[in-house]
Formats: sequence, C-alpha cells, structure tokens
Amino acid sequence: MITQFRDWDLNRHAYAKEWKERTGGKVMGYFCTYVPEEILYAANILPVRILGSHEQNDVTEPHIFGMFCPFCRDCLAQGLKGRYDYLDGIMIAQSCLHIRQAYTSWTKHIPIDFQYYLPMPNNVQSPHATPYLTAEYIQFKEAVEKWIGKEITPDDLQRGIDIMNENRSLIHEIYNYKKMDNPPLSGEESMEVAITQQMVDKREHSVAMRKLLDEIAAGGKSTKNTSGTRLMILGSENDDIPFVRMVESVNGTVVTDDHCIGTRYFWNNVEPGEDLITSIAQRYIDRPACPSKDWIERTRIPHILSIAKEFGVKGAIVIQQKFCDPHELDIPAIIKSLNANDIKTLFLEFDVTVPLGQFKIRVEAFLEMLQEDDLF
Ligand code: SF4
Repeated sequence: MITQFRDWDLNRHAYAKEWKERTGGKVMGYFCTYVPEEILYAANILPVRILGSHEQNDVTEPHIFGMFCPFCRDCLAQGLKGRYDYLDGIMIAQSCLHIRQAYTSWTKHIPIDFQYYLPMPNNVQSPHATPYLTAEYIQFKEAVEKWIGKEITPDDLQRGIDIMNENRSLIHEIYNYKKMDNPPLSGEESMEVAITQQMVDKREHSVAMRKLLDEIAAGGKSTKNTSGTRLMILGSENDDIPFVRMVESVNGTVVTDDHCIGTRYFWNNVEPGEDLITSIAQRYIDRPACPSKDWIERTRIPHILSIAKEFGVKGAIVIQQKFCDPHELDIPAIIKSLNANDIKTLFLEFDVTVPLGQFKIRVEAFLEMLQEDDLF
C-alpha cells in the first residue's frame, strides 16, 4: 500500500533530478515550513525541503558551531557534500536562529543561481503580522518573477493555492483514519506519506494519496501491528523513521504528532479571501505555531492537548533535538500540561543519529508503565 511513498523517501534526490529532466522546471530547496510553497507552485517551481541524512558528518565544523542543533548541521552537511547539487535556488522563511545559520552558511559556500531570505514575523499574534507578511510576499513574488523571467498571474496563484490545499486536505483524510482503533496505517507509514509531501511534486503526491485512500476505503490495511499503545510524538523536527519503527516494534502505535514534518506542516489550508497574496499570508500567520512564534499567548498547549484528545493518545514521546533552544524553552510547560491531563510523557534528546538500543529500553519501560495504568 505504501511502497510508492517509501520509494520516494529513499530516492528523494533521484526523484527531483528526474522531475527536472522531465518537466524542464526549476527546483527550489527550502529550509523550514514557513516557506509559502503556494507562490513556488504558481511559478511552476518544485519546492524541496532540505532534510538531513542521519549520518555523522565531518564537514560542517568549520562552518557552523557544534552547539547548533544536529538537525540544522545535518542539513548543511547535505549541501556541503553536494547531495542537493541539482537545486536551482535556495531559500528560508525565518523561524529559528539555528536553521538560519545553516541557510547563511549554505549561501556562502555552495554556489547557486538564486537565494532568498524571507522575513517571517515571530510575533504572529500582532495585528501587523499579516499586512507585514503580505508586503514581504509581494517582494518575494517579484524576485521569483525576475528569476524565471515570467509574470505570476492571479490564475497562477490560484493554481498554487489549489495544489497545496488539495494535498493538505488529503493527508488530513489519511490522518483521520488514524483516529480509529487499530488504524489502517502504522505511524511509520503515515510518516512516510508526510515526509514525501515535502519533497515530491504535490500533484503526483496527491494522486498517490487518493490511491492509498481508495485502498483503505476498500478494506486495505497495513501489514504491521497497529494495535499497540496509542502514542503521540511531539517537539523538535523529527524525520527519523528508524526511531518510529523501533517504537512500533515494541508495541507502541504512533497515531499522531505535533512536529514540523507532520501536522504542523499541513494542519490548515489557505482560506479564500479578496486578495490571494493576503490569503496565503494569513494561512502562514494562522498555522499551528512553532515555539519561536508562540507568544504572547501560548497557543501550542491547547492545540497539542486537543490533538491528543482527538486521536485518543495514551502517552506522548517528547523529542528535543540537542541544543534546540525554541523547543527546550517550550517543553517543560507542555509536559506539565500533558501530565495534568493524564497523558504520561517520555522525554528523549535526539542527535544526528539516535542510540536506538538505549532508547528501546526506555520506550519499553514507558509502554509498560502505560499498560499497567490500563489494568487499574
Ligand atoms: S527549531 Fe529546533 S530543531 Fe528546528 S531548526 Fe531550530 S533548533 Fe533545530
């Protein structure tokens, strides 16, 4: 059922190169999920999120201090090793300082045709945030038009919005199935669908998701055990599939998440408004916040609690990429709120590679504790 997504995930660079050859289009590498992909699709550019490879590297040390998070060092390593040598452009929308450092270093050391730093307000709760971001998007659109030598029309923008909205709505349908007892997909499998959303042409990805949904509607089901203790994963960036596989091998079932590879990326759609660029900006202002943008009011806690309830979560694995300041600040309050709502938590610190053996023992002990709770 899931082979296509797995294949895309494992062969992400070959896919992008093949896409380029097939379409003659440009490919834009991007850091962080605040990048308005709607505008890139409007320009017929393929957005590809820069992700790491979970291998130790010896190339980033001269460029980025070792106390920056392992995820952003792993991302930069991919660029320095030439694995994204097919990119035509590179961009970031401001989120945290760590990933911005990876972007800056990339632009300094890896020659590329187009680069763009897109300011994205941290105070998304300010009344000025949407007009500010709209003005930034207008400038960004003009820069892209100059680069591709073609105007982006309102019809193009509407097409970009439709492509993104359709793709986000379809993955919601897939996640809805994960609310069931013994869901038809394991956490590992739904993660493969979510990760590939960020690197494959969304039109092709949506076709594959429709096919998957048809198979599920016809009674198709994962060959993996999905009747384990219902878990949520939340916190820093996490695209570590072997970790999720390990959790599910010891009778946990990951039914939902709050991280930027999963729900935070696709949770809300662009709502139609009078002006298309403003509507896109509003979507990125309103999306579930990452910790660096969650103030003055803390919106993440009620959002996480509501997802946990919706998906019938028993326990949460809270992940922090080592040295990730935004999540480090956020996590204590989140753990406190989850625990106060009878959701037990296991905190794990991630590095470029994770000690699966040690983590397995801790996850097993955590699951045992949750299963004992069920007995009383
Ligand atoms: S938010 Fe955390 S995990 Fe994400 S790039 Fe910043 S420091 Fe790294």
